[in-house]
Amino acid sequence: MSQLRMQGVEKVDDGDKLVEKLVGQTCAFCGDGSLTSDRYKENMAVICECCGTPAAQLWEQ
Ligand SMILES: [Zn+2]
Repeated sequence: MSQLRMQGVEKVDDGDKLVEKLVGQTCAFCGDGSLTSDRYKENMAVICECCGTPAAQLWEQ
């Protein structure tokens, strides 16, 4: 089962839904870019298309 780890959040069971929810939101880090679903170091992640900061990552377990 996949687990999502988000900055400030320990675990989220339903990672796929959280990814869907996050995509399109404004990046909290730079406040400028919007979040997009992508791969980050082998993991599924939600990344800012502007600064590249991952807002959330999915670890396959
Ligand atoms: Zn950003």
